[in-house]
Amino acid sequence: MSEAKSGQTRGKLRKAKLNPGLSFVLKAFGSACMLPRLPALVALLALLAPPRVCRAAEPRNLDTAKQDITRYIDSGDYDRDLARVAQEAERYLTARLAEPPKPNQKLAIAFDLDETLLSNLPHMRPLGFGYVPPLWNEWVATGTAPVIEPVARVYHLAQTKGVVIFLISDRREKDRAGTEKNLRHAALGGYAALYLKPNDSPDTARVFKTAARKKITDDGYTIIANVGDQKSDLAGDYAEKTFKLPDPFYLTE
Ligand SMILES: [Mg+2]
Repeated sequence: MSEAKSGQTRGKLRKAKLNPGLSFVLKAFGSACMLPRLPALVALLALLAPPRVCRAAEPRNLDTAKQDITRYIDSGDYDRDLARVAQEAERYLTARLAEPPKPNQKLAIAFDLDETLLSNLPHMRPLGFGYVPPLWNEWVATGTAPVIEPVARVYHLAQTKGVVIFLISDRREKDRAGTEKNLRHAALGGYAALYLKPNDSPDTARVFKTAARKKITDDGYTIIANVGDQKSDLAGDYAEKTFKLPDPFYLTE
């Protein structure tokens, strides 16, 4: 086959392989040697294409969420869930304290305060479960948050059995007077220490509380249970067992 003939044949083969769409494109944009223009072509096709409907998932409606929380409280489900977790803690404590003690072991229990031993519902509910710092500070200073009875029973059971009680709260030191007043009114006395976050601390609740439990452990105590309403109360070890109470109201990290 001559060189000229061979070249004609290859040209025919190239034409035969082109599909109609590409033929149109090449006509519109010149020839295959114009392929560097493809980005412009892609942009043109994007303009001609029908618009794609991209819609973000709509977040949960705030009012319906509040209605659900109100129903959770008013139905009694919240109280039942609090009681259920507290009863689990009581059963565990009873079983754990029946174990033969190790020599020189000092047993301790850690409790959070807000929505664990003390209920802030009388403050939160009229505010639509909102958080307004000046109003919150006023509320804490009154020291009138009611005690959460099922958890208080765990507190008193531990106390009766000689377990040392530590309170670890994400409240600040500036809240100490109101908090101690509240604990007296709630008949929650006899604790070994009340850990409150320094006023200028940038630490998260999780970091602060883990450090507090580490200190208690370093001081020679074995924390056999840690009770709180937030995951940040319970994360970070330094406790044999944790008990998570319900809290649909807020998130503390
Ligand atoms: Mg709490």
